[in-house]
Amino acid sequence: MSVVQLRYNFRVYPTPGQQIELARAFGCARVVFNDGLRLRQQAREQGLPCVSDAELSKQVITQAKTTEARAWLGEVSAVVLQQALADLNTAYRNFFASVTGKRKGRKVAAPRLRSRKDNRQAIRFTKNSRFKVLDNGLLRLPKIGDLDVRWSRTLPSDPSSVAIIRDATGRYFASFVVTVDQDETLPSADSEIGIDLGLTHFVVTSDGRKIDAPKFLRRAARKLKRRQQDLSRKQRGSNNQKKAVVKVARAHARVADTRRDWLHKLSTKVIRENQAIFVEDLSVAGLGRTRLAKSVHDAGWATFTSMLEYKAARYGRTFGRVDRFFPSTRMCSDCGRIGDKLNLSIREWTCPCGTTHDRDINAARNIRAAGQADLNDRGAHVRPGLAPAARREAVTHPDAACSTRSVEGISVH
Ligand SMILES: [Zn+2]
Repeated sequence: MSVVQLRYNFRVYPTPGQQIELARAFGCARVVFNDGLRLRQQAREQGLPCVSDAELSKQVITQAKTTEARAWLGEVSAVVLQQALADLNTAYRNFFASVTGKRKGRKVAAPRLRSRKDNRQAIRFTKNSRFKVLDNGLLRLPKIGDLDVRWSRTLPSDPSSVAIIRDATGRYFASFVVTVDQDETLPSADSEIGIDLGLTHFVVTSDGRKIDAPKFLRRAARKLKRRQQDLSRKQRGSNNQKKAVVKVARAHARVADTRRDWLHKLSTKVIRENQAIFVEDLSVAGLGRTRLAKSVHDAGWATFTSMLEYKAARYGRTFGRVDRFFPSTRMCSDCGRIGDKLNLSIREWTCPCGTTHDRDINAARNIRAAGQADLNDRGAHVRPGLAPAARREAVTHPDAACSTRSVEGISVH
C-alpha cells in the first residue's frame, strides 16, 4: 500500500460576476505575496534576521487588513491569502536549500515579485476554507460562489485542496489535490533501462531505441515559432499586436497540452516495461556540453523525468537520477575505456577493444550502469513507500499551483 497525492484538473466556467470575484482574489493573493517578499528583502538589505513565517502573516495579512491601504484584503477568503504566503515560504525554502546545496538538481532562483501581467494567475483553497463540491456538481468557493465545473472523470476521494487557475488565454481551471491510499504496484518486469537525452532524438535508451516527438507535435511547434516571429514584427501596443498575443498564447497552450499528453504516454510505457529506470541528471549532463551542443529537447526533459519519478514511486518501480559527472558519451560501455572527446558530428565510434558504439546508445548504457552502481552503493531499494510529490504536478509547490496540467494523460481542454 502506498499513499499517493494526485492532481486532477478540470476546466471551469465562471460567470462574469464570478470572474470579477476571482480577479479580486488573484489580485489580493498577489499583493500579499509581494508585500511578504518585499518585507523579507528589506530585512535582508538591512542585515536583520529573516522574518519568520508567523510574523510575516501577522504583518502582511492581519495587521495590513486594519490599514486603509490594504483594508480590501478583507473582501477575499483569508485562506487564499495564507496560501499565497505559504507559496512564498516554499519558494524561499527551495531557494535556500538550492543555495546551500541541500536541494539537488537545477538551481532554484530567488522568489520574484508577481505581476498582474503574469501568464498564469492562481489562488488556492485548502480544507480550512470549507470549499465544497456540491451534490449538483458545482464547486462552492468562499466569497466567490458556485462554479460550473466540467467533470471529465470522478475524483477518487475527497480533495484536500483546490487551486483555481486562469491561464494566458483566459481559460479557468480547477486543480484538485487528492490523496489516495492504494496498491498500484505493477507485476515486476525483468529489464532495467538507462535513458539519455539525445542530441538529435528526444530520448535514447540503453536497449537501443531512439524516440522522437511525433511529427504533428514537431510541426505544431514549428508553426508556433513562426507565429512568435510574426508577433515580434507587429507594432507594439497596436490592436493587431494584442490580437496576435492572444493567438500565440492559445497556440502555445495547445502545443503544451499535446506535448504533455505525449510525455505521459511515453513515461507510462517506460514504467510498465522496466523494473528500474535510470536517467541522467540534466544539471550534471549540462556540464559536459557546450551551449551549442545543448539539445533542443532540454525543456521537455525535466517534465519527462519528473513524470518517470512519481510514476515509479506509484507503481513500485525503481527510479534513479545519475547525478555524478562522468563522460558518458566517450566512455566505452563494454570495457570502460575513456576515449578522446567526440566531435558532435560523430555518431558512431569504435573502441580499441573492438566494440563499435552508437554515440547515444552507448551513453544510455553508461547511464544504466552508473545508476545500477549507485543503487548497489546504497544497498537498498529506492523508497517503495511514500510517493514524492512530483515536481510539477502535486502539492503546494508555487509553480504547481499555477499549472494546468493533467494526470495520466487526461488532457485539459
Ligand atoms: Zn571498449
